[in-house]
Amino acid sequence: MPSEKTDPRPGPDSPGNRPDSVPNPLSERPPELTTGEVVGRMAREYLKPHWRLAVSALLASVIVAGATGVLPLLIKHALDNIVGSDAWMLMLVAAGAIAATGVQAIATYVSKVNMSTIGMRIVATIQERMFGRIMHADLAWVGGTHSGRFISSLLNDASRVRDSITTSVIDLGQNLLTVIALIGAMFYLNWQLALMGSAVIPFIAILVRQLGRRSRKAARRGMEGSGNLVAVISEALSGIRVVKAYDQEETEIRRTSRAVYEVMEQGLRAMRSRSMASPVTGTLSGIGIAAVIYFGGRSVQTGFLTIGDLGGFLSAMMLAYEPLKKLANTQTLMQEGVAAAIRIFPILDITPTIASPADAKTLKVTDGAIRFENVHFHYGDGTPALNGVSIDVPKGHTVALVGPSGAGKSTILNLVPRFYDPTSGRVTVDGQDIREVTLGSLRAASSLVTQEPFLFDDTIRANIAYGSPEASDAEIEAAARNAAAHEFIAALPKGYDTTVGEAGFKLSGGQRQRIAIARAMLKNAAILLLDEATSALDTASELQVQNALSKLMQGRTTLVIAHRLSTIKHAHNIYVIDDGRVVEQGNHDALVAQGGLYAELSRSQFIEEPTAGSVASAKTPQAAVAGE
Ligand code: ATP
Repeated sequence: MPSEKTDPRPGPDSPGNRPDSVPNPLSERPPELTTGEVVGRMAREYLKPHWRLAVSALLASVIVAGATGVLPLLIKHALDNIVGSDAWMLMLVAAGAIAATGVQAIATYVSKVNMSTIGMRIVATIQERMFGRIMHADLAWVGGTHSGRFISSLLNDASRVRDSITTSVIDLGQNLLTVIALIGAMFYLNWQLALMGSAVIPFIAILVRQLGRRSRKAARRGMEGSGNLVAVISEALSGIRVVKAYDQEETEIRRTSRAVYEVMEQGLRAMRSRSMASPVTGTLSGIGIAAVIYFGGRSVQTGFLTIGDLGGFLSAMMLAYEPLKKLANTQTLMQEGVAAAIRIFPILDITPTIASPADAKTLKVTDGAIRFENVHFHYGDGTPALNGVSIDVPKGHTVALVGPSGAGKSTILNLVPRFYDPTSGRVTVDGQDIREVTLGSLRAASSLVTQEPFLFDDTIRANIAYGSPEASDAEIEAAARNAAAHEFIAALPKGYDTTVGEAGFKLSGGQRQRIAIARAMLKNAAILLLDEATSALDTASELQVQNALSKLMQGRTTLVIAHRLSTIKHAHNIYVIDDGRVVEQGNHDALVAQGGLYAELSRSQFIEEPTAGSVASAKTPQAAVAGE
């Protein structure tokens, strides 16, 4: 642990610090489960499929325990025969010792390999299921939890469970059986001494239980700390531009240091509890052994016991010493695994509310017409967002949503692919309630182009073909041409095989947009959901993106969030949204003439009158964005 002088941790009120931990709804409600409940669930759900391996590991453990239990009896016979000087018998006993240790070695190997295999398979299954749950979970739930918490659970917590299964379960089974076998041997040799020698075991059990509790608590806090550490690191890395631009490297380093030292503190605490288990067991066992040496020795001196009885008995106690210590360690390690499993269960148990209903039909897209019928919506945290919205987007029409920031435009768009469900009212596509059709068919019916398009760290080809894996190279290229992206792609040294870097880092904003548009072109869905974003682009890029967008919109039913009114002057219909309500509706000219909110927004954006006809006709890079 660092000394006070060298401790690099900053004080709690260092200036300019953001909170150390990130919001995490998962950690707010960890279920209080007993060890039995956790182990029971793991066994039922995850161990059952591997029962053959588990049974063979258990049998191997029984063999190990049996072979160990035989050793003290062999030692007794050996000692008695030294006194009786029977050489033949001695040889037989020696051969028996070789056989017992040989069997013990093979069985140990079998049980270790089998349990490790089970542990690794179980963890692979858990990781697979966890990721599946996260992918299918409601967007609201995933968005409300920091990604660092998920990453940490998928990697750290899952590997703790594995260690717990592979180490604790093997040690628990094998050592418990071995201790039982050796206690059996002790009772066989002399029950009075056996009672005396095993009197310490209940005390060991009580102390070890206490240590297990402490270690579980420290492990839980350590894992929460690890989740937080992953979160602060990933935040600092994804926001590296902002960090550098605001000269906040040191702040981020301090913030991460605090998270690092918190994990270290909890790790030390868990380690101390773990390390205390052996000495506690050792000291108490030593008292037991001392008592047996004294009273057993007196019994030999008075002729109640043979030297062989005492030798065999003492060797049984000595042999029990190691597995007993391991058992104590196992308890603390197992508690760490239990703490990890308790963190994993809420992720495994999440059931999405937004899913295809049992009797869902496939969405039949004829026109791609969308209707919002008296839709109300509030977010999970109670934030009201929509208040009786009715919108009609007929076949092939372009309908624009305009309004101040926070009015509810993105929320409306997000209801179409069912990222969220309305609190009341309904959304239909070609007359079918979107909650009654399969999610797959609904999402296949629309393409979404967002303000900040996301690209995967893969080739441009793979990024365009995302969602259309069967597309041919010619189709990908055609989509890129339509999206005005082919030229810049072809000019790159590796063309379509250029990797774009994390989140498209190596491309400009306009290039990323056009690749996203190409992706939507290739998907060729009847409905287009567009969170139009051209304000961040320079005039040349903006024109290219606008051209690509107008091509994409051709023949599709389009619901577009317009940030620049110049781009939607020719939309068939414009809905002006304010405070979750539709406050005005009509085409550009009618709305301007109405002299309401739209006219006001329109004036504030200082639109240079464009030449009529095209959504790409705006000439000036107005900085104003709707409502900003
Ligand atoms: P902008 O033009 O700035 O993008 P918008 O009109 O698209 O704004 P929305 O994003 O739909 O507005 O937000 C509507 C309201 O819902 C706002 O008050 C916003 O704070 C709130 N809101 C948006 N997303 C969430 C969320 N995930 N959880 C809680 N509240 C949210």
